[in-house]
Parts: sequence; C-alpha cells; structure tokens
Amino acid sequence: MRTGGITTHSTGSPSGFPHEPTLPHRGSTSSGTPPTCFAAEDERADGRLGQELFRWRVLRAYRECCAVCHLRHSELLDAAHILPDRHPKGEPIVPNGLAMCKLHHAAFDSHFLGVRPDLSIELRRDILDETDGPMLRYGLQGFHGKLLHAPRTRGLRPSVDFLAERFELFRKAG
Ligand SMILES: [Zn+2]
Repeated sequence: MRTGGITTHSTGSPSGFPHEPTLPHRGSTSSGTPPTCFAAEDERADGRLGQELFRWRVLRAYRECCAVCHLRHSELLDAAHILPDRHPKGEPIVPNGLAMCKLHHAAFDSHFLGVRPDLSIELRRDILDETDGPMLRYGLQGFHGKLLHAPRTRGLRPSVDFLAERFELFRKAG
C-alpha cells in the first residue's frame, strides 16, 4: 500500500541544479581558531559569494535573458532582487530574483518600472508622459503593459507575494 509520502532524491546541490559551480570554502584549512579580526571581512566575502551564487542561479533560471527586453548578453545582465537585500524577506533565492539587463535593473530599482503580481510591466506615470529620444521611447515606455518573461518551472518563477509587496513600493514611489 502506498503511503503517499514524498520521496526526495538528492541532486547533489541545494538548489536542485545539477551543475552548480563550486564556491570555495574558507576557514577549513587552518588549524586552531580563526583570528576574530577577520570576521567582518569573512562576512563580506560570504555575502559576495552568496550574491554570486544568486546571480548564477537567477541568470540560469531565466536562460541568460532579460525578463523585460530579452537581451541575451550575460555581461549586461544582473540578478535583480524583487524584495531588496535589506528587507527581512529579501533572501537571495530565485523566486526573489529577476534577470534584468543593466538598464531595466536600474529602472526597476529606481521605481521607473514596476511589475504587477500578474507579471505585467507598468511604467511610472511621469516617465510615461515624458518626451525624449529612442532609449526612453523604446527602451522604457515601449514595455508598458507588456508581460515579463519568467521561467515556466514553478519553483523558479517569481513569487507573487514578493511581487505584490514590491509593487506597493513602486506605487507609493509614483
Ligand atoms: Zn532589459
């Protein structure tokens, strides 16, 4: 008789990606207690490694493609946080990330551009009303009302709750 229990299989990586890069482990080679004066530096290094891993996972989930404009050059792509680092729920996990090119990441962080929980993109009213050259017209205004590209895999899609909370911040900024 089946118990209905869930069997988990280890894939060898915490995120379930089979070929996740191995990041260096520090503090395990020297004997004795590590000097405490390096603690702050270690924390910063841990933060950096965490952010590198976050970027790698998000870019992979989005197939190295900007979620807004589909630009496919990883050199120009970032992993944007939906809820920022300093937010209590701003964890470096894929459902809190969006792959975005430098322009759209900056526009998202500056609340020029918001993403509704249904994944539609909204431009701030004053940005929408502005008149300027092609970068504003095609690079920003042109995406108003369009749908964000998101991974199909459920566990990799942006969290609706995180998007809702972030969209409130966008609305207040406008
Ligand atoms: Zn873009």
